[in-house]
Amino acid sequence: MADRFFPNVMPDFVEETALHQDDAADSLLKLLSMPYPSLSQSFKRAALDLKEIVVLETWGLTGQHVQDFTLYSGALGTAFLLFKAYQVAQNKNDLNLCLEIVEAFDSSSLASKDVTFLCGRAGGCALGAVAAKYAGEQELLNYYLAQFTEIKLPKNLSDELLYGRVGYLWACLFLNKNVGQGTIPSTNTRAVVEEIIENGRKLAKKGGPPLMFEWYGEKYWGAAHGLAGIMHVLMDMELKPDEAEDVKGTLKYMIENRFPGGNYPVSEEDRKRDVLVHWCHGAPGIGLTLAKAAKVFDDREFLKAAVDAAEEVWNRGLLKRVGICHGISGNAYLFLTLYRITGNLVFLYRAKAFASFLLDRAHKLISKGEMHGGDNAYSLFEGIGGMAYLFLDMCEPSKARFPAYEL
Ligand SMILES: [Zn+2]
Repeated sequence: MADRFFPNVMPDFVEETALHQDDAADSLLKLLSMPYPSLSQSFKRAALDLKEIVVLETWGLTGQHVQDFTLYSGALGTAFLLFKAYQVAQNKNDLNLCLEIVEAFDSSSLASKDVTFLCGRAGGCALGAVAAKYAGEQELLNYYLAQFTEIKLPKNLSDELLYGRVGYLWACLFLNKNVGQGTIPSTNTRAVVEEIIENGRKLAKKGGPPLMFEWYGEKYWGAAHGLAGIMHVLMDMELKPDEAEDVKGTLKYMIENRFPGGNYPVSEEDRKRDVLVHWCHGAPGIGLTLAKAAKVFDDREFLKAAVDAAEEVWNRGLLKRVGICHGISGNAYLFLTLYRITGNLVFLYRAKAFASFLLDRAHKLISKGEMHGGDNAYSLFEGIGGMAYLFLDMCEPSKARFPAYEL
């Protein structure tokens, strides 16, 4: 399955300035040995250029042709990228355009039944509220918060991150972090948490994890539709001791049943195929959840498993795609998270290596057809919008957070 990823021939670690840039034979090695402040300027310039292209392709001048408004693959992803660009470069135009896109989303999605941050109305209302706060527009902030509280979760909703209950809860957490703790009080979210735990316990079987969930008939493990994404969000909610134990036990079960190399199966049903090293399915997304568990439960076993996952990402995660969900950009975030938690410079180097590979080669490889540009080529989660987002995070790596997943 070597065709899914490029063999990673980059050095395992290069000290900055270990080799003189002028002596480095190729342009990628030059980037890897560049002092961080200069490299970070290159990332910033590239990110801001990419952002202009993403805006032009997904929004144009007026947004009148937009068909997909989701954060995952549509115009709200561009708004989220603009918000990030504003945080890094402080250009007020980015914040204003972000709000303009959210406004168009708002009027087009009033009847929408989708409720999550990544694929539904909660994403737009939450981002609108936070952007309004940064813009100092109190009335607009109140409007989006009021819209947010109007969102009703349908009874037959799934539990996973992209379309389900935890995808709604993540939007609540995003508001609490960025507008202020208690903006969405836990009294409002407690019933949702209880329902998720109840569903998870109902599907659990003897000998399996204490919590299990299904999405369209399959019991996924990954971040997008499965256990990792659900556990990730639950760890940020107020849990009773027995609920926290079940979250912990579910993650331990995953570690005990992972592949020998450190990667993870896609689902309970598909336990033999060690193929996908994506955020959505496999070590990169599950590793982020385990790194979080190491902090939440103060347990070294989780950190060790997250480090093993990162080793798999280093070896098999230089994917032939650019995006956040199943591409190099998303895979770089596990290194950034481990750098933030451990302070180990090897992880910073490895994030830098993945990002530099994209900076140096993505355009060339895509135009030669050797790399896939993404199903939605300019989107946040599948296209170069995600690459721009990673480059912005590389400007201040200790503050990097996987978009719409890490708080
Ligand atoms: Zn994916």
